[in-house]
This record gives sequence, structure tokens and C-alpha cells, in this order.
Amino acid sequence: MLGQLGDGAKFLAGGQSLIPLLKLRFANPEHLVDLNFIPHTSFIKEDSGALRFGAMTRHAEIENSPLVRRIPLLQDCAAGIADVQVRNRGTIGGSLAEADPSGDWANALITLDTTVHCLGPLGARSIALPDFIKDAYTTALAHDELVTEIKVQIPPQGSGGAYLAFKRTAPVYPTASTAVQLAMEGDICKDAAISLGCVGLTYIRAADAESVLRGHPLDEKIIAAAADAAHAAADPQPDMRGSADYKRALVAALVKKAIHIAARRARGEHIEGSHLYA
Ligand SMILES: Cc1cc2nc3c(=O)[nH]c(=O)nc-3n(C[C@H](O)[C@H](O)[C@H](O)COP(=O)(O)OP(=O)(O)OC[C@H]3O[C@@H](n4cnc5c(N)ncnc54)[C@H](O)[C@@H]3O)c2cc1C
Repeated sequence: MLGQLGDGAKFLAGGQSLIPLLKLRFANPEHLVDLNFIPHTSFIKEDSGALRFGAMTRHAEIENSPLVRRIPLLQDCAAGIADVQVRNRGTIGGSLAEADPSGDWANALITLDTTVHCLGPLGARSIALPDFIKDAYTTALAHDELVTEIKVQIPPQGSGGAYLAFKRTAPVYPTASTAVQLAMEGDICKDAAISLGCVGLTYIRAADAESVLRGHPLDEKIIAAAADAAHAAADPQPDMRGSADYKRALVAALVKKAIHIAARRARGEHIEGSHLYA
């Protein structure tokens, strides 16, 4: 339908990004193609060592899914998105397709092995998440192409992750956020993935902070050095949520806290992640 209707048409999923844009007259599509009537597009399944999410799966379904406890970072992320109303409507597929620089899903999923499955008139294709997000509000999707599914590999035993956001109030995007996923061998960090949100035009992979952790025991000195590296990697814009310096300091503090939670989860501890509210 989108192919037939042409450039003036847009998909509608949960409407939690698109409808506010329509209300503000920032978007004026001639037609909306409503995905909500397509059956079997909302699901969470465990399959061959991966979790598969239908594109129309709502944030709230992910927050409340017992299966998603296999990857606590994802539950942290879903639980922190806005308020219950937004979480009941907004979808994981819509969030990735929107590629909002402040959106939580891309920032969380990038620390895991994530593939985005897409479908269009030319057929189906699978795109690794780093290749899917091209820039702020820009993805690899063609105009008439859909996200159908998001596949996330379940990290092996001895792994732990955490997603933390700092928010001024619940129903707003974070001021800064971070995702940390660790693979531990005893006290030694074998591998680390750290991503920073709301401090750049897309998520920022804090590669230097990851290198600081790799191959070391996670003592306070190493964790502080990783937080410093995250501080240096952030590239925030000042806005109503705070100055650039404030956001850099904030994201570094979030990284520190998230490393502590991720390391404890890697040891098998069950810890409720909790976002920080001003
Ligand atoms: C008050 C408020 C607070 C919010 N706070 C947060 C927050 O803290 N963190 C956060 O991450 N998000 C937040 N959001 C956004 C919310 O998460 C949205 O749900 C999400 O960004 C978009 O998903 P959606 O299903 O609502 O998509 P829609 O708004 O329906 O669509 C968004 C865009 O994606 C396209 N699209 C949708 N689905 C598909 C698909 N399957 N394939 C291809 N293209 C598709 C649409 O054409 C449109 O261009 C907030 C929204 C509101 C209204």
C-alpha cells in the first residue's frame, strides 16, 4: 500500500512519535498506512539462543515479559520509556524506525548482537543494528520498507548488563542515558560494550571506555577510568535539559553506576535496575 500511495504516505505504528509530529504540523502525510491491523506482528519468542520481537511489540509488553528477564538490560530500557500510556502504545519497531537521537531502544540494543529484519517490495533483508541506524532520524529503510522483527542474541553465562537513564520527569525523554553489557570471567572483564544516549546525534559507542575495562578486574580505579573515557566520548548539545558540561558529567556518572549493576548481574545477582528521576 505504501508503494502504491507514494512519498505522501507513512506507516503508523503506536503513533507515539508520529502523532505528536502531526499535531505540531511538523509532518503532513497525505495517507497513513496503519500497521495495527496486521496480525502476528506483536510477539516475543525465544528461539535458538535469541529473543525475537515482532516490530509491533509494545514497550509495556517487553517490560512485563518473563522471557525478557533473560536480558535484564532490555527490561530496564522498556521500563524507563516515558509513562504507562506511552509504553502501552509505542512499539520497538517504531522506535528503531524513528531513530530519534534521544530514543532509548537503539542505545540499549546496540550493546547486544541485534539484527533488524525488514520487508519491502524487493523482498526481505536482515540488517545488523549498527548498519541500520545511519544518523539522527535516518535509517537504512527504503520509503516502502517495513521493520518486521528485531532479533537479539542472548548473551552467554557470565554476562550482565544494565540500562540507566536520567530523566527530569517520567513522561519525557532522558537527559542522558547509558547501556553497559559486560562478559566476565571471575573478577576479570573479558568483554565490554558501552553506549551513550542523548549526548550526540545518534547513540555513541564509548570504545575507549570499553578498552579500559577489557582484561582487567573491575576495581574502583578501572571503573573511574572508564567513566572518564565515556565523559570524553560524549558530544552533547546544550538545550533545555542542561548544558553540554552537565550532560557530559551526568553520562559519566551513569556509566559508573551501570558498570556496577552489570558486574553484579554477571555474578548472578538479581538487581532491579532503577532509572534516576530529578
Ligand atoms: C510524551 C512522550 C514521551 C516519550 N518518551 C520517550 C522516552 O523516554 N524514550 C523513548 O525511547 N521514547 C519515548 N517516546 C517515544 C515512544 O517511545 C515512541 O513509541 C517511539 O519512538 C515510536 O514508536 P511508535 O510505535 O509510537 O511509532 P510511530 O509514532 O507510529 O511511528 C514513528 C515512525 O516510524 C515509522 N514506523 C513505525 N513502525 C514502523 C515499522 N514497523 N517499519 C517501518 N517504519 C515504521 C512511522 O512511519 C513513523 O515515521 C515518547 C513519546 C511521547 C509521546
